[in-house]
Amino acid sequence: MGLAWLCAMMLLIPGPVQTRPETRAAMAQDIAPWDHGFRPTYARIRERVRDIAGGIAGEHVTLPLQGCGHFMMEAAIRSLVPPNGKLLIPMNGSYASRMERIAREIGRDVVKLDLPDTRGAREEDIAPVLAADPAISHVSFVYSETGSGIVNDAAGIGRAVRKAGRRMIMDGVSAFGALPFNLAEHPECDALMFTSGKCLEGMPGIGFAVARIDSIKARAGQAGSWCFDLADVLAHAERAGFGSFRFTPPVQALAAFDVALDLFDAEGGQPARHARYRANADTLYDGFVAMGIKPYVTKAEQGPIIVTVHQPSDPRFDFPRYVEALKARGVLISNFWNTAEPTMRIGAIGALTPEDMRRALAVFRECLAEALPAAA
Ligand SMILES: *Cc1c(COP(=O)(O)O)cnc(C)c1O
Repeated sequence: MGLAWLCAMMLLIPGPVQTRPETRAAMAQDIAPWDHGFRPTYARIRERVRDIAGGIAGEHVTLPLQGCGHFMMEAAIRSLVPPNGKLLIPMNGSYASRMERIAREIGRDVVKLDLPDTRGAREEDIAPVLAADPAISHVSFVYSETGSGIVNDAAGIGRAVRKAGRRMIMDGVSAFGALPFNLAEHPECDALMFTSGKCLEGMPGIGFAVARIDSIKARAGQAGSWCFDLADVLAHAERAGFGSFRFTPPVQALAAFDVALDLFDAEGGQPARHARYRANADTLYDGFVAMGIKPYVTKAEQGPIIVTVHQPSDPRFDFPRYVEALKARGVLISNFWNTAEPTMRIGAIGALTPEDMRRALAVFRECLAEALPAAA
């Protein structure tokens, strides 16, 4: 049984994703975030996500921040890359470009490694750059590139960073909970970032970093921002308790997130979620190919999170109108694209199954036939 029948609209976007009714229901209450009744929930969430990340108690800590993933990226770069450091970013998609802009606006020195946006970055891309420039202190990269759907090889990049004795920061926002990553095996990784509203299928509103305690403490005082200072988030927790938020949190989203984590565990955790999303993405990919719509990346490079396809080149194809036609039939996709060529990006994540994807594909096909009627 597909899950989307429970809702009027099927969200096929990279996030916030389709959620389960149990998750949404947890929001329908007034909650005092600093009350002792809620503190154990918040403290538990921190431990649960640290465990999902493979973090080690006493070595890694969950440092949440109100808001979105970009806020978390900025906080992590401010708090971990020193003002005299040098940050290498493999550039192969729009979220890598966003990361580069964040780092540049903060005033950090950025080295860009330009790569094609149709394949993931690998160990052999990163290693020679690190060898050639000993001043590079950190490597920051996007695990799952939401712009195109490719996946950078996190384990391989980590290996290159570890061998070269540098530090790593990972934007795992559209990957965490689905793609495998185990912090215990990556001592070079200072922080891994994600949000409540993507593969963990919670509501939007909270960003998380699972970070190394030693790295955060070693760099305390350098953030240049109180709000985006992860060392201060940690200091607050050590002072006021791990159930205490520094400033007012989106507390209903946190309550929902706790339920979303229960559902994540019940499904079988990361391997099960990865398998479901993989099946969703494969169903979409093969379905579009069968429809004559060309995917943006090869099947080998196609990750399980986002399927990006070229827009039909027929001049009659009007993308905004197509998106509206899909929506009128209950299928919602992004109304913009962030690849060089005009594409459509379709999310394979959220509380959806391959059966939902097949229903969606029927809608894609109907609307396409309507947009491009065959010549008589
Ligand atoms: C969604 C996403 C973000 C953060 O987006 P926000 O809108 O700021 O929450 C960051 N990186 C990647 C790869 C993403 O997919």
